[in-house]
Amino acid sequence: MTENGVPESSPHYFRDLSDIPVELETPTGTAGDTRNRPLRDLRISVTDRCNFRCVYCMPKQIFGRDFEFMERDELLTFEEITRLAGIAVAHGVEKIRLTGGEPLLRKGLEELVGMLSALKTPDGRDIDIALTTNGSALDVKAQVLKDAGLKRVTVSLDSLDDATFKALNDVDFPVAKVLHGIEVAHEVGLGPIKINMVVKRGQNDQDVVPMARHFKGSPYILRFIEFMDVGTSNGWKMEEVVPSAEVISAINAELPLEEVVANYPGETSARWSYRDGGGEIGVISSVTQSFCQSCTRVRVSTEGKLFTCLFATGGHDLRALMRGGCSDEQLSTVMAHIWRERTDRYSDLRSAATNDLRGTGKKKIEMSYIGG
Ligand code: SAM
Ligand code: SF4
Ligand code: SF4
Repeated sequence: MTENGVPESSPHYFRDLSDIPVELETPTGTAGDTRNRPLRDLRISVTDRCNFRCVYCMPKQIFGRDFEFMERDELLTFEEITRLAGIAVAHGVEKIRLTGGEPLLRKGLEELVGMLSALKTPDGRDIDIALTTNGSALDVKAQVLKDAGLKRVTVSLDSLDDATFKALNDVDFPVAKVLHGIEVAHEVGLGPIKINMVVKRGQNDQDVVPMARHFKGSPYILRFIEFMDVGTSNGWKMEEVVPSAEVISAINAELPLEEVVANYPGETSARWSYRDGGGEIGVISSVTQSFCQSCTRVRVSTEGKLFTCLFATGGHDLRALMRGGCSDEQLSTVMAHIWRERTDRYSDLRSAATNDLRGTGKKKIEMSYIGG
C-alpha cells in the first residue's frame, strides 16, 4: 500500500531495458508471490476495440466517436504474445484466456490460437486455451477457432429480453444472434460453455430468474457476476451491485438450489446445483466476497503491459523490453521478479481503497482495456 492507501501492483514497474536485473534466473515452474499464490492463469487482451458499448464497461459518453483506440503497431504482435505466453507457461501458467475489448475483432485470431496451442507445460501437458466473447461473431468464427486449438468459450449475455439487452449493449444488438452463436459454438465442441451475466440493479436484475429458468437443464453453465468498480468510467455505485446472496436467494425461491464444492482451489465462481438435477449455476462475488487469497492470475494488455491485478493503476511494460531487444532469459527473469514481489489484494481492501483512489486522482485501468 502507498501512504494514500492505494494498493500498488508491485514495489516498482519494469519500464525499459535498464530495469532488467543483472542476475538471470531460470524458471522453476512453481513461482509463488508474497502470499504464496502460484502463477497459473494468463489473460491476454488482444484488442482494445469492441462493437458493443456495454454501459458498465465502455459507456458511449467516454468511448464515443472521438475516443482514440490503439494504432496497429502499438498492439503486441502474435509472435510477441506467444513469446510472452511461453515464458509465463515456464513459470507455471496452465490456462490462457483471450479477451479484450472484443477478441473476435482481432484479425486472424485463429492464427494466434494455433500458435498458443503448440505451447506445453514443463511436464508436457497441453495448455487450456479459452476465450471470452460477447458472442456477436461466434456463429462465423467458432469452427475455425476450434480447428486452430481453442478449447472453450465463455459468452457474455446479460438478458434474454431484447429491450433490456439492447439498453445494456447500447448498439441495438439482438439477443437471438448471441444465442445462435452460443449454439454454433456448442455444436463445434467449444464446451462446456459458460454464460456470463453481469447483474446491475435497476437495469437487468429482473432477468436473473428468467435467465436461470432458460438455461436450466441446458448444456450451458450460467454465471452471475457482481457489477464491479473496474476502471473509472462506468460510474460504479455500491447501490447498483446485486449481491450474489440475493441472486441465489431469488433463484432458490423458485428453483431450489444446493451448494457444490469447488472444482479446484482458487475457482473464482461459487457453484450451486439445482436440487432436481437440472444442472448448475455459478456466482462470481468479486465485490461482496473477494477471493484475492486464491488469485493466481496475471493479465497482459493489448499493448503489452503486464498487470498483476485487475484493479492495478500501472503495469510493467513488457513490449518496451521485447522491442528493446531483451533476451528470453531476461524476460523470464523479469517475470520471476514481478510475481515474487506481487502483493495485490485489491478486492479484500476495496472499500477503503476505492475511496482513497477517488481522492488521489489515480486512475484504475478499464475493463475493456484489460479484459475480464
Ligand atoms: N468483450 C468480451 C465480452 O464481453 O465477453 C470480452 C471482454 S469483457 C471486458 C470480459 C467480461 O467482463 C465480460 O463477461 C463482461 O461482462 C465483464 N465485465 C465488464 N465490465 C464489468 C464490470 N464493470 N463488472 C463486472 N463484469 C464486467
Ligand atoms: Fe465490449 Fe465486452 Fe466491454 Fe461489453 S463487456 S463493451 S462486449 S468489451
Ligand atoms: Fe486478484 Fe481481483 Fe484480488 Fe486483484 S482484486 S488480487 S485481480 S482477485
